[in-house]
Amino acid sequence: MNQDQISLLQQLLDSPKKIVVIGHKNPDGDAVGSCLGLSGYLNSLGHNSRVIMPNDFPKFLKWLPDCDKVIIYEQQQERAQRMLTQADLIFTLDFNALNRTGDLGVLLEQAQADFVMVDHHQQPDDYAKVTISDPTMSSTAEMVFHLIHALEGESYIDADLATNLYTGIMTDTGSFRFPSTTAVTHRAIASLIEKGANGSDIHRAIYDTNRPEKLKLLGTALENMVHLPEFRTAYITLSQKELDDHNFKKGDTEGFVNYALSLNEVILAAIFIENKQESITKISLRSTGSFSVNEMARTHFNGGGHINAAGGRSVKSLPDTVADFLAILPTYQNALNDTN
Ligand code: 5GP
Ligand code: MN
Repeated sequence: MNQDQISLLQQLLDSPKKIVVIGHKNPDGDAVGSCLGLSGYLNSLGHNSRVIMPNDFPKFLKWLPDCDKVIIYEQQQERAQRMLTQADLIFTLDFNALNRTGDLGVLLEQAQADFVMVDHHQQPDDYAKVTISDPTMSSTAEMVFHLIHALEGESYIDADLATNLYTGIMTDTGSFRFPSTTAVTHRAIASLIEKGANGSDIHRAIYDTNRPEKLKLLGTALENMVHLPEFRTAYITLSQKELDDHNFKKGDTEGFVNYALSLNEVILAAIFIENKQESITKISLRSTGSFSVNEMARTHFNGGGHINAAGGRSVKSLPDTVADFLAILPTYQNALNDTN
């Protein structure tokens, strides 16, 4: 972020405002953590800020400080609509195009408020008065940390705010192991620990609260895994029936795709998950090194994301979507085999 953006933001925030902070559909730890962190900061400055999420977030995030105040658009449409109409300022966090909020995107397009984007995905759309976009950042939560510092608000970071930002950074970096994790990220984390975030407790609350059914579903996913050494690829499928048989709850498949990526020599991993309710197949892609799954998701699966983590969707059935994936793999064969 540059000084002009900070000055403009300071101007926008120099008197008490009605503010809405919004994350993407199917919010993950970074979306929820960064939104709650920023909203908490804005409230402590004297603004009236609330978080709206397009739909509900997983149970493993439902202990985050202030998460009970989040408004879920899918459950409270009229209230959310009223808040958006009345807002002076709308922050959009952890996404780069309004359609990433699902149906809420239509309301956002109509809103009269000034928009501020804070995001780390590639190729951001141009809808905001202030666009703070940095794809080199580990997470939007890390960007919120730097933003608060740039606004000289460090003293407002209390244990709750620190916990929300720590969680966003931890989940989006795969617990500080993805290449986007830098010395600067670790300094931010060190500062958040000093402010009261307890890394060990947060890790346990996120990763060690599994239900037995979720681990059995992981077993099914691993049974279904297909390894294609000639493409240095592995993929996993989960049908709606398999999800139903394991009493699937939102968030249960989080991280499954990483098991496919952990195979020796594999640099491209995918998981295909049937969603009968939305009549789609949801796709999550992961890679290591310079192979861009953002490009693959954008070109073939109506999606996007980052170089090494992206997602998309297909209106085709689960087997047909997998067939599409298998059909495009040969066009990537050189790229897959040239990458370290
Ligand atoms: P995940 O696979 O964990 O759902 O998402 C990985 C990354 O890709 C995240 O940064 C997420 O925001 C992005 N992503 C996931 N699904 C979609 C999608 O349908 N469209 C776009 N543009 N990005 C997505
Ligand atoms: Mn993120």
